[in-house]
Amino acid sequence: MSCRSSGTHCWRYCASLEDKKVTISRARGSLTFPANFMLVGAMNPCPCGYYGDPFHQCTCNPGLVSRYQKRISGPFMDRVDIFIEVPHIDYEKLSDKCLGEETKKVQARVTAARCRQQQRFNGTGLTSNNEMTPAEVREFCQTEEDAQSLLKVAMKQLHLSARAFHRILKLALSIADLENSDIIKAHHIAEAIQYRPRRAV
Ligand SMILES: [Zn+2]
Repeated sequence: MSCRSSGTHCWRYCASLEDKKVTISRARGSLTFPANFMLVGAMNPCPCGYYGDPFHQCTCNPGLVSRYQKRISGPFMDRVDIFIEVPHIDYEKLSDKCLGEETKKVQARVTAARCRQQQRFNGTGLTSNNEMTPAEVREFCQTEEDAQSLLKVAMKQLHLSARAFHRILKLALSIADLENSDIIKAHHIAEAIQYRPRRAV
């Protein structure tokens, strides 16, 4: 997917991500359709695919890596909730017979978090944390003092936008829900901050 900062298409993608509707305009007029969707995407870190890999040398020059990563515009990146780097996996891990946490246990935790959100938003018309507006974030996101301090430092040091501020709080609330916690703690904020994008600049 290409989304350059100067293109009108980028603006449309970004708008539909937040408005949950898309407008298609043609010569005879325009129509608006519902577009409430979850966007999941993947990309290589650079053209050769090895930037940041501890076992393979990236053969791209730094300028090329930066240009490649900037093909996804800042406004678009700002609207994505979670960025995760997927590193090289060792043979030992791939061949490990220990399969990790059972899906059933994870499902139970997610279901409990969803129930918690339904109770929280009962009568508001909202169904999940992601749907909160900035005003609702202020109303529903209760944070410990340590968590507020950490977020304040992150906002200043990482030069985060107002949009990123609200996204971090919404995500931290979901992480707290998964822990069955009524209040957002510092480690919830810390984890949510880790999911903001990092670029090779
Ligand atoms: Zn490379």
